[in-house]
Amino acid sequence: MQTDAPILKELVLAGGGHSHALLLRMWGMHPIPGIRLTVISDHAHAPYSGMLPGLIEGVYTFDEAHIDIARLCIFAGARFIRGRVIGLDLAGKRVRVADRPPIAYDLLSLNVGSVPPTEPVPGADTYAIQVKPVSALLTALDSLLEQPKPPRSITVVGGGAGGVELLMALMHRFNATFRDARPPTTYRLVHSEAQLLETHHHRVRRTVAAELRRRGVELVLEDRVVEVLQNGLKLQSGSLVEADAVFWATGAAAPQWPAAAGLSVDARGFVAVTETLQSVSHPEVFAAGDVASMKAHPRPKSGVFAVRQAKPLYHNLRAVLLGEPLRAYRPQSQFLSLIGTADGRAIASRGPFSWHSRTMWRWKEHIDRKFMRRFEDLPSMEILRPNAAAPRTAMTGELEDVIRNHQFRCSGCGAKVGQGVLERALRRAIEEAPGSEPSEHVLVGLEERDDAAVLSVPPGSYLLQSVDYFPALLSDPYLFARIAVVHAASDLHAMGARISSAQLTAVLPPASSKAQEETLYQIVSGVLTALAQEGATLVGGHSAEGKELALGLTVNGWSPKDAVLTKNGMRAGDRLVLTKPLGVGCLFAAEMRLRARARWLDQAIASMLASNGPAGTIFRSHGAHALTDITGFGLAGHLLEMLTASRCDARLDVQCIPALPGALEVLAQGIASSLQQENRRIADAIQHTRSGPTDPYFELLFDPQTAGGLLASVPAAEAEACLAALKAQGYAASAVIGEVTAQANEHPRIVLA
Ligand SMILES: Cc1cc2nc3c(=O)[nH]c(=O)nc-3n(C[C@H](O)[C@H](O)[C@H](O)COP(=O)(O)OP(=O)(O)OC[C@H]3O[C@@H](n4cnc5c(N)ncnc54)[C@H](O)[C@@H]3O)c2cc1C
Repeated sequence: MQTDAPILKELVLAGGGHSHALLLRMWGMHPIPGIRLTVISDHAHAPYSGMLPGLIEGVYTFDEAHIDIARLCIFAGARFIRGRVIGLDLAGKRVRVADRPPIAYDLLSLNVGSVPPTEPVPGADTYAIQVKPVSALLTALDSLLEQPKPPRSITVVGGGAGGVELLMALMHRFNATFRDARPPTTYRLVHSEAQLLETHHHRVRRTVAAELRRRGVELVLEDRVVEVLQNGLKLQSGSLVEADAVFWATGAAAPQWPAAAGLSVDARGFVAVTETLQSVSHPEVFAAGDVASMKAHPRPKSGVFAVRQAKPLYHNLRAVLLGEPLRAYRPQSQFLSLIGTADGRAIASRGPFSWHSRTMWRWKEHIDRKFMRRFEDLPSMEILRPNAAAPRTAMTGELEDVIRNHQFRCSGCGAKVGQGVLERALRRAIEEAPGSEPSEHVLVGLEERDDAAVLSVPPGSYLLQSVDYFPALLSDPYLFARIAVVHAASDLHAMGARISSAQLTAVLPPASSKAQEETLYQIVSGVLTALAQEGATLVGGHSAEGKELALGLTVNGWSPKDAVLTKNGMRAGDRLVLTKPLGVGCLFAAEMRLRARARWLDQAIASMLASNGPAGTIFRSHGAHALTDITGFGLAGHLLEMLTASRCDARLDVQCIPALPGALEVLAQGIASSLQQENRRIADAIQHTRSGPTDPYFELLFDPQTAGGLLASVPAAEAEACLAALKAQGYAASAVIGEVTAQANEHPRIVLA
């Protein structure tokens, strides 16, 4: 839920674990005005621990067993930063994130889970499959399942509840996938202790051991793996056992960066927290789930606690912001575990109580599905509106001041952002920017701080210039800025220019000076990163305050006078080559309605981040006769512009047009960008044979793109080589989508095949 209040304080959630997922849901229903909530997670989908064994077993799909964190962020009005936390600057209150600028916080919460143990077992890193991160485990599993034959033997190392459930789930999955394999796969469990599941009652241990033996699992107890080899394991006892696939489930270790940053940690490196879930050493840092260790109440690492800690975490973070008293949380000492046995049954275990039955599995399934429904059944975007009744913060006085000042804020000079904010944000971003050679065509630029940039072009060249303006497409200002540069530069790449410089207009939402500086810093960092990739320099800009974050970019480039490529020049017989898949518009329309999957958006973002520069060079070297970039008018609109300029028709092979994952699915549900209708006004110029106006492929033709691909008219003899070069350059979805034909009537038309 969004609020219109100026941004005053930064609450940052690092990691998309169970506690943060639940917290986001609660926050979305009761946001605090003036607090900018930011979530940093290395994956947009977080696995739900209760369903993980079922996912491995094959009873749940990926979507059923994952929480869509990016979608929850939209619901909660939070910024979503796709990134891996690698450290903390506790003095400067910044979270360090891999491959991007750090994120500032006033209040920080960690829910990043645990990492595989770092015990120095030679070969474990190279040859064993670690159970964490789960995304890597699932990738490794998929690749084993795709082999023509199953592994001859599978060994799980670690006999806790996680290892036992994992082994049973793997057995079910491999036996079902390779039903007729001869000889069948053999299974083994290696555990260093004399008993499996030592934290459970002896009745549960006996049931589990008997169940594993009944299924033919070889149990190797009271022995340790001392080395993992390519096809086997060396044990402490001296035995050597064969193992084609080794899964490493020996328990949870702490990530190293919290301790390295100076946070107080327990003996194993987990963040030491009080009963209020605050760091013992840094009260402005909270931690929950596996990464936290409650000094007064040590508990095993389990998703159950991460879930239970969500409410106290939510309450206490709000309490700090609202100046209210914090609540102590005491985890229960006994809790119910439901251990799936991958045969339609589960073992219930709590203290001395245990029961292994189908009923227990049905109960577990009911609990898990109910839990996940909480993240699916979110209110739709239509009813997400500012919550007038949301509480004022403890910083009420401060908030009111900002609102009052905001109302009377000067709108002269384009409501410029304060000079101090601008200076500091620029200085920081420039200092940390990836180094790039200053362009020889910039005579006076940003460094000179003069009134205007002075630019030159090489003799015999033209100056090419293009301007674009974008409201924020993503909540992450850094990624948004990088995409904006790719989009703006694309117009020049389509005309064969080399980009030399750009000017930036940044419109920032009302916020405290500190919050505004942070937003601007992220934006300028993104612009500088993307311009460095283009070999271009930022030469100036303008900043202003507006209701929502938006960016304008003016991009300059040059091209030899005889090398400028235009839309005019197509010839009948040319092949039409498109470099990127379509679907950006409808996917982001679906995202606003909470109807897009984060993994679809991940792919859309990756596609948008790819510069069209190398593609432009490849097209020119293969003699393209005409070139354009696909943006707001969609494929049909931009193709028609080319056909009109060139006086040609085109035939499109609809099935060959690449689509982003999820795009056809959302179009089939009637979800489209608000520009779609306008773009469809040229639909009369399209003659459809097989696909028709109700076909999602047809709708895809009008889908507006941000940072879309290039569309080229390439001589037929060059098309194949050109396509191969594009694919080798990384444009994996590039395709020949049709051909140029002679104009049949007065008006150009597109025939769909
Ligand atoms: C095979 C297996 C089966 C299990 N089965 C169960 C079970 O049935 N029931 C149960 O209660 N527990 C189970 N567990 C334990 C359970 O998975 C963990 O205790 C639980 O996931 C911890 O939850 P969390 O919220 O602390 O962190 P996690 O669920 O691990 O979530 C952390 C999130 O933060 C993200 N993240 C991690 N590091 C970073 C970083 N550096 N930067 C940014 N983001 C980051 C991750 O992508 C992840 O989404 C099982 C564990 C395994 C390995």
